[in-house]
Amino acid sequence: MVEKKEKVKTKIIDGKKMAAAIEKKLQAEIQTFERKPQMAVILVGDNPASLIYVNHKKKAAEKVGIDVAIYHLSPVMTQDALISFVEELNRNEGVDGIIVQLPLPKHFDENAVINAISPAKDIDGLNYINMGKLFIGQPSLVPCTPLACMALIKSVSRNLVGKTAVVVGRSRLVGKPMVQLLLNEQCTVTQAHSKTKHLSDVCKNADIIVSATGCAGLIRKKFVKKGAILIDVGIVRTASKKITGDIAYEEMLGHAKAITPVPGGVGPMTVAMLLSNVVKAYRDANVLLPRI
Ligand code: NAP
Repeated sequence: MVEKKEKVKTKIIDGKKMAAAIEKKLQAEIQTFERKPQMAVILVGDNPASLIYVNHKKKAAEKVGIDVAIYHLSPVMTQDALISFVEELNRNEGVDGIIVQLPLPKHFDENAVINAISPAKDIDGLNYINMGKLFIGQPSLVPCTPLACMALIKSVSRNLVGKTAVVVGRSRLVGKPMVQLLLNEQCTVTQAHSKTKHLSDVCKNADIIVSATGCAGLIRKKFVKKGAILIDVGIVRTASKKITGDIAYEEMLGHAKAITPVPGGVGPMTVAMLLSNVVKAYRDANVLLPRI
């Protein structure tokens, strides 16, 4: 079938604006709490990118009224000492959410450290209990970036039942939980990765494409059905120091139904979802359920 030539009016999904609205609501809700929620961030070593991310999270959290305690630990500590530290924070009633900033220095077993976080305080949603709950469709703390993508998709398409979605990337942080969120919304989902053959054919019939690979411009116009929704998770710094994403953005204007820009799409919404997870953890612990 020959594709019609008419142009589509492509909506640029403004993640910054959506995030600001969510943060405003969180701020108002926090003002009704008996105390400020507290987020504990464990940073091991001096990875420069991690230092930037941690400070960014701190600034955003404090703006809405969340207290942030950053524990900057020495990379020469042992795995057991790090796990004991996490367990201490688990027991601390004043701490609502815990993040272990990744990557950890190579000698740590990241899985073991993340799985040591109490599921009720695991605001990154990466603990195996929360992942397991997501996979069987039970309420849980869900990783922030896929949560952000879902909110962005829903801002342009409320009813996702029966939609065809392709998720490119299969990381624990983004791709895998993203597939589950889409499945839970009754989408038909295909997951692609670096060994996928004929990616353009795999993507071509999708109503929704979420790309999370870090390969600049991987998703070209010929991969995309006219009127598809495109969510670009990728963050790539080009040789000219420009930040760009996985999707060939300019090519999609007039072709896609909606697209998230990079920067200004998934990034700010990921931060808003993290803050939202802190508030959820506080609420669940103080209003609904006792911690386990
Ligand atoms: P990751 O752990 O490196 O995973 C990348 C995934 O992409 C892998 O599953 C890999 O496949 C797949 N992939 C790589 N090249 C591919 C190709 N040519 N074709 C198809 N699939 C390919 O990365 P991540 O943590 O998921 O992050 C992905 C990107 O999103 C990065 O650019 C990261 O900076 C960005 N990110 C942004 C945010 C945000 O807030 N905006 C948050 C998190 C991540 P294999 O499994 O086969 O290796």
